[in-house]
Amino acid sequence: MKKLIPVLVAFFSICNSYAIMGQNFSGPVIHKVVLDPGHGGHDPGALSPDRKLREKDINLSVAKYLGQEINKHYPDIQVIYTRTGDVAVDLDKRGIMASEQHADLFISIHVNSARKPTSIAVGPETWVFGGDRSRRKDDSYDVVLKENEVIKFEENYKAKYEGFDPNNPQSMIVFNFQKDAIMRQSRILGSSIQQSLRNGPLRGVEKDRGMKEGGFVVLAYCSMPAVLVELGFINSSADRKILSSENGRRDIARNLFKGFEQYMNSYAGNGKSAVSDNTVPSPKSFRVQIMASAEKIPPSAPVLKSYPQAGYILCEGQRFMYKYTLGNFETREDAQKYCNELRDGPFPDAFVIAVKDGQLVPF
Ligand SMILES: [Zn+2]
Repeated sequence: MKKLIPVLVAFFSICNSYAIMGQNFSGPVIHKVVLDPGHGGHDPGALSPDRKLREKDINLSVAKYLGQEINKHYPDIQVIYTRTGDVAVDLDKRGIMASEQHADLFISIHVNSARKPTSIAVGPETWVFGGDRSRRKDDSYDVVLKENEVIKFEENYKAKYEGFDPNNPQSMIVFNFQKDAIMRQSRILGSSIQQSLRNGPLRGVEKDRGMKEGGFVVLAYCSMPAVLVELGFINSSADRKILSSENGRRDIARNLFKGFEQYMNSYAGNGKSAVSDNTVPSPKSFRVQIMASAEKIPPSAPVLKSYPQAGYILCEGQRFMYKYTLGNFETREDAQKYCNELRDGPFPDAFVIAVKDGQLVPF
């Protein structure tokens, strides 16, 4: 791996001939998506101050709208719901159900509520499974504890969760069944969804609550990329106005779908990138270069294993002629957002490049 170096210079200044290779993305095809409307039955989830608006109803309604959007745009994808009515489903069963069905993605839908009645918190936040408490500075564990708390009402929970105490964050650690590659994909799905949600009706533009990591039981049992979204705050009157209307819920679902679609386009074999025709002149698009290599890297190499959809651009005449890229975006801004995500994660030296008709072009 010593020949593998991140390239820090804008390489089109020294790259004379370009050819896009691996244009037809070969990432995994997404066949099944599990949508998980949080709570249900005897567990209403968060409640509005007058207790009339219930989280469980909002979650179900938004999940159904999201399922409709996915069916409309990707008729080949099977959408499975952990519940379609007002019934209780144990937290572990939701993730286990998705794993048993060999689902490819899992999206759990929730609504937030602030602990303090005086809180002015608004807007969406997205969670992935993780246990890194050192990076947590706020009350985020409240969200984790609140969403996990329902297990106390599940039958036989003490035996089932073996010593797990929903009030003790330390005990989450044992639930970390997820593999690194799945967690990375979850972060990218989560980041796409958060970016899209914060531009939606539940505005998080002024102060993005961001994507966070926490020990959610519902995510711990998922063996596929999985995220949990908190759409907005039920105790914020601004958020409640949107969460309580059908139009608002539909708009939120559309934004969730856009985040999902972004993930599909970047990662999935059945995303739009996969069907682009190389012979038709294409508009300029933006990609993220993650590294360059003197030799072609086998897809099974550890550095690429989690990114089977990575393509490369061949710059002949250069020593590090294989420029590996991820993503394919219409705007430089979107590519930059994705790039920042990759920089925070596995590729700290990633940067954005512009591509047109298989050639590198200036921005
Ligand atoms: Zn919830």
